[in-house]
Amino acid sequence: MVRIADRIKLLGTETAFAVSAEAAAFAAKGNKIYPFHLGDLNFSTPSSVVEGSMKAIRDGKTGYCPTAGIPKLREVIAADINAARGTNYTMDNVAIQPGGKPVITKFFLALMNPGDEVLYPNPGYPIYESQIEFNGGIAVPYSYSEGKENFILDLDAIEKKITSRTRFFILNNLHNPTGAECSPEEHGAIANLAKKHNLIVLSDEAYFDMRYEGLSKSIASLPGMAERTLILYTFSKKFAMTGWRLGAAIGPKEIIDVIAKLNVNNESCSNHFIQYGAIEGMAASEKKEKDMLGVLKKRRDVAVDILNSIPGVHCYRPHATFYLYPNVTEAMKMNGYDNYETFRKDVLHNTGVSFCTRQHFGKVLPGEKNFYIRFAYSGIDEKEIREGLEKFKKFMSRNMTNKQNVKEKSAIA
Ligand code: PLP
Repeated sequence: MVRIADRIKLLGTETAFAVSAEAAAFAAKGNKIYPFHLGDLNFSTPSSVVEGSMKAIRDGKTGYCPTAGIPKLREVIAADINAARGTNYTMDNVAIQPGGKPVITKFFLALMNPGDEVLYPNPGYPIYESQIEFNGGIAVPYSYSEGKENFILDLDAIEKKITSRTRFFILNNLHNPTGAECSPEEHGAIANLAKKHNLIVLSDEAYFDMRYEGLSKSIASLPGMAERTLILYTFSKKFAMTGWRLGAAIGPKEIIDVIAKLNVNNESCSNHFIQYGAIEGMAASEKKEKDMLGVLKKRRDVAVDILNSIPGVHCYRPHATFYLYPNVTEAMKMNGYDNYETFRKDVLHNTGVSFCTRQHFGKVLPGEKNFYIRFAYSGIDEKEIREGLEKFKKFMSRNMTNKQNVKEKSAIA
C-alpha cells in the first residue's frame, strides 16, 4: 500500500483551480460560463517573446543552461528592476525561476527554521499560508480593512503581532485578491518595522507592471531595505505568459546563491530557450503591453460600474492588478445567503458567472463579519463581462421590484 508522507497533511493548495475545474465541468454540460475565477489572461504572448524563443530553439538552445539562468537575462532583469525601483542590483542578485511561485517556496527553504513566525496577508495568495506551514513555520495572518478609496493596512495591529520569534514579513503590494496598494506611509511603516525587528521581507511583485494609473512602488527602494528584501518577479502577467513558466528571485547575493543551489536540487535550470524569448520581449517596444493594459483598464471600469449598480454590493476601483474584491455582505443577506459556497454555486448554476470567494484566499479569520468575492477580469472580454455581470445583477435583484424596495429591505436587515 502507498503511504503518503505525514508532512503532506500540512500542504495547502490553490483552491481557485478547483473552482476552475467546476466551471469547466458545468460548461461541458452545454452551459454558458463567464470565467471570472482565475488570474489567467486571454491575451497572446508578445510576438517578440514567441519569435525569440522559436529562434533559440532553432539555434539549439535546448540543452541545460546555468542553474541560476542565462547571464544575459539575469543582467536584463537586474537593469529592469533598477530602472523601475532605483536599486543597484547586478546579475549576481538574480536567480531565474520557472515562474514566480517557486520563489515563495525557495524563500522559506532558504531562510526559515521550524517555529519561525511569518506575517502574511490573509486574505492573500493562498500559497503563502500553505508553504509557511508545510515548511514548519508559524503562519501569522494580517488583514486589510476598507479605506476611503481602497483597502488599507492596520499598521498598529500588525506591530502587535510581532514577537521575538517573528522573522519574516510577506508583502504583496498590488495585492491579490483585493487590488490594494501601499501608500508611501504604509510602505515606510512596514520598512521601519522590518528594520526595528530585524525581519526579512518577501516582496511579491507579481503585479508590479499591471497598472493603469500612477506608478508602482517597491519596498526594496526604501533605504536599508534592498539588503533585507527578496523580490518575487514574474513574466506571467506582464507578458501574458502564465503557461510558459518564467520568473525570478531578486535579492541579496547570499540568498540568491542558496536559491541557485535549490534550483540545482529541483528543476536543474529553468527552460533554456524561453529565457532568450524573454530577453527579446524586454528589448521590444512596450506597445503590446500598453495595448493590453488599455484593454484591461476598460474591462475594470465596465465591471466596477456594473458591480456598484447591484443592490448591496460595494466595489473599489483599484489602480493596479486585474482583480476586484467587492463587499457583498448586504447583497448576500438580502438574498438569504450566509454561506460562501452555497452562494457561489447558486450564482454559477443560475447565471454561469464563476468567481472565487474570500474562502479561496487563506483561512477565514475569527471575527470576520463581512463577505467578499473576487472577480478576475483578465481572462474575459468586455462584452462577456457586461453580459455576465448583468445576469449576476439580475440574479441578485430577483427579489426586488425597485431600488427603493432594496433600500427598505437593507434598512430592516
Ligand atoms: N504571486 C501572486 C500574488 C499571484 O497572484 C501569482 C499568480 O497568480 C503568483 C505569485 C505566481 O505567479 P506565477 O507563478 O505564474 O509567476
